[in-house]
Amino acid sequence: MRTTAAVLHSPVAPFEVEQIDLAEPGPGEVLVRLAACGMCHTDLSMRASHRPTPYPVVLGHEGSGHVAGLGAGVSGLEIGQPVVLSYASCGRCRPCRTGEPTYCERMWELNFRCCRADGTTALSREGVRVGSHFFGQSSFASHAVVSETSVVPVDTDAPIELLGPLGCGVQTGAGAVLNVLRPDPGASIAIWGCGAVGLSALLAAVVAGCKTIIGVDIHPGRRDMAIELGATAVVDGSADVVTEVLSLTGGRGVEYGFDAVGAPGTLENAVASLAPRGTCGFVAAGGPEQMASFSPRHLLFGRTVTGILEGDSVPHVFIPQLLELHRTGRFPFDRLITTFALDEVNEAESASHRGDVIKPVLLMP
Ligand SMILES: [Zn+2]
Ligand SMILES: [Zn+2]
Repeated sequence: MRTTAAVLHSPVAPFEVEQIDLAEPGPGEVLVRLAACGMCHTDLSMRASHRPTPYPVVLGHEGSGHVAGLGAGVSGLEIGQPVVLSYASCGRCRPCRTGEPTYCERMWELNFRCCRADGTTALSREGVRVGSHFFGQSSFASHAVVSETSVVPVDTDAPIELLGPLGCGVQTGAGAVLNVLRPDPGASIAIWGCGAVGLSALLAAVVAGCKTIIGVDIHPGRRDMAIELGATAVVDGSADVVTEVLSLTGGRGVEYGFDAVGAPGTLENAVASLAPRGTCGFVAAGGPEQMASFSPRHLLFGRTVTGILEGDSVPHVFIPQLLELHRTGRFPFDRLITTFALDEVNEAESASHRGDVIKPVLLMP
C-alpha cells in the first residue's frame, strides 16, 4: 500500500513529505493508521554525527491511531482498536522477562537500526529501501507497520491524536519520577530542563505530592509554563543555578534531582544541588565524548546518580495509568502539546529548536 510520510534524505536536508510504499504487516506485526505523531528530541538528534542513521529514513516514535491490519500470529488486538505506540522490545530476554523492557538486550537492534530484526524494511520508494521501524515505529506517516510489542491498546475518551507523546517523552519524564525516584509526599525536587520531558516529570512530581518543585530552564516562557503546571519556584538555567537551588532549600539542597537536558554541566549541577541521601536521575547524555565529573566526597554522603531509559516504563502498564491520572485532571500532559499538519513538519522542527513550542505533534492527513 501507499503511505504519506515525512522522509529524511540526509542529516542536513529538510523533511520531504512524499507518497512511498509500505509493506503488508509480517508475522508479529501490526498495521496502524496513525492519527498523529509527537516530535521528540531523539528524532531530531538522529541528524547528529554520532548516530549511524541510514538514509533515506522515516523517523517518528510517538505515534497514536487505530489498528488497521494484523500480521500472522498477532493476538489481543482488533481492527479499529485505538492504540498508542511505544518502543520495541524482544519480550524474551532477561530484562524483558523481569519487567524491565526498557533495558531489553536487543534495544539498539530493534529500535535504532531503522529496519526489522531480519534486516528488511517495511518502507520503500520506487523500489529503493527506506528506513522503517525507527524506535520501533517510523510514525511520521499516515500508516506504519510495527512490532506488536510496540502497540499499547488504550481505552479512553481523550482525543487519540494527543496521546502519542505518552509513548516516549511523557513516559520518560513521568516514569523517572513515579517509577524510579518515587519521592515521598512533601519531598523536594529540582528539574533541569522544562521541555516536554522535564515538564512531564514536573507534573508527576505534583501527582507524587512534592512540596518543593524547582524548575530550571534558560527560556523564560518555559519557566512560566513550569509555574503554571505546579512548580513552586523557577531558576534561570543561565544563572548560578546551584547557589539558587541551595538558597531555595535553606542551604540543604534538594532530595531529588532530575536532568532532562544532558548538556555539558547540567548533570554536575543537578548532583551538586542534592541534599545528603539525595538521588539524581538523568535521561539524556549528549554524545559519547561527553563526560561528567563529581567529587567522590560529595557522593559519599549517601547521594545516588542514576541513568533512566524511557522512565523505566512498561508501556502496557504505565500508559493506562497516566491516562487514568489524565482523566481525573491530575496529569494534564496535553497542555504541553502544539499541533502541526504533517506538511508543516519542518516548521515544527524549527519551532522546537527555538523553544517556541514544548511538544510538537504532527497531525496525519
Ligand atoms: Zn528483550
Ligand atoms: Zn523520544
